[in-house]
Amino acid sequence: MCLGSSCRSRRLAAPRAGVEGIPEVFVKVAPALSLSVNVSGVYISYPFCAQKCTYCNFASGVFPRETEVRYRQALAREMGAHLWQWTPDTVYLGGGTPSSLSPEDLRAQLRAIPGRPWAEATIEAAPGGITPDAARAWADAGINRVSLGVQSFVEKELRRTGRTHTAQTVAAEIGVLRANGICNINIDLIAGLSAQTATSWGESLDWVERLAPEHVSVYMLEVDQDSRLGREMLLGGVRYGAGDAPSDDATADFYELAVDRLAAVGIVRYEISNFARPGFESRHNLKYWKLEPYAGFGADAHSFDGRTRHQNPESIDDYLTGAGQIDDVPHQSDERFFIGLRLSAGIRPDAAEWRRYDAPIHRFLDAGLLETDGATLRLTRRGVLLSNEVFQEFVNL
Ligand code: SF4
Repeated sequence: MCLGSSCRSRRLAAPRAGVEGIPEVFVKVAPALSLSVNVSGVYISYPFCAQKCTYCNFASGVFPRETEVRYRQALAREMGAHLWQWTPDTVYLGGGTPSSLSPEDLRAQLRAIPGRPWAEATIEAAPGGITPDAARAWADAGINRVSLGVQSFVEKELRRTGRTHTAQTVAAEIGVLRANGICNINIDLIAGLSAQTATSWGESLDWVERLAPEHVSVYMLEVDQDSRLGREMLLGGVRYGAGDAPSDDATADFYELAVDRLAAVGIVRYEISNFARPGFESRHNLKYWKLEPYAGFGADAHSFDGRTRHQNPESIDDYLTGAGQIDDVPHQSDERFFIGLRLSAGIRPDAAEWRRYDAPIHRFLDAGLLETDGATLRLTRRGVLLSNEVFQEFVNL
């Protein structure tokens, strides 16, 4: 959900003349490609939430019911008009809060996607509304992985974000999911929430240990000035705990503690923000970091066909009217450096890349931010904390 750079997908295709009832931009045509892949991922954006979290700067939020109905119709048209170049093996419903879709609406949105049973089909869910009926309906619809937007298990921190669930709710709902056959669970956590301390962060990690999820995402909060929390901070106010946020150093310490504690229970970092038990790494999100193709549907969804990136209009209104189009962007060869380097496994530059990036590579090797065995290049532990600085160098070349 939410903080997931990870959960934004990328584009497949060029617009062409309209099909009945569909804005031109939503008609996607698969170009002929010669990639060696035969599977792709599908991302569906459902940017509707029960309440707006105080730190959130996404276009997602609370909208009139009528807008939600029109959005579902537009989404169904966009997906129905898509020409499938590959049979997808992963599906990811992100948001927003796609778990608020009724079983009928969820089935309707998934109907257009070939390839079921998908190897991995994830739905992002807000804790607090997962009933046995909902879990059964998700499993029946082909969902086999649930990503829970927990963010914290500490009530004081949660209330300041605007979230209403409790740790006990999360524990009970994970039980419900497992009892209904959904046994691949992700827990999202945020380091750096207002009121967070080393002790309270330790409590959240205790809960993670007890609940033993297959996957954990840990995001370090970067407060955006477009969020309610960010605006309050700029004004010097105290609402949403704006005067009570941990320092950047403390946030980095919380993240580092999570790396160690999760590793100690077998949940190992495989990407900057993502940790999994072996075999439970997110197959879908790995496509983003490995530059494999994926098709995104809905507002702000991204697609990537191996050569070109496309982004749907960011706002729901623009998506519904076809306004605010963003031009396609050719895939850049340096993306491998700042996207692939996010993976703990690193990347294997070819001879031309070693030559082209010789200067920054050696600068970061000398600074202890990158390490290499001669063939593979990857971030060091310290390099992970300073990854934005490292990536920036490769973007600018
Ligand atoms: S659940 Fe909260 S953080 Fe996630 S998209 Fe909605 S408002 Fe933003």
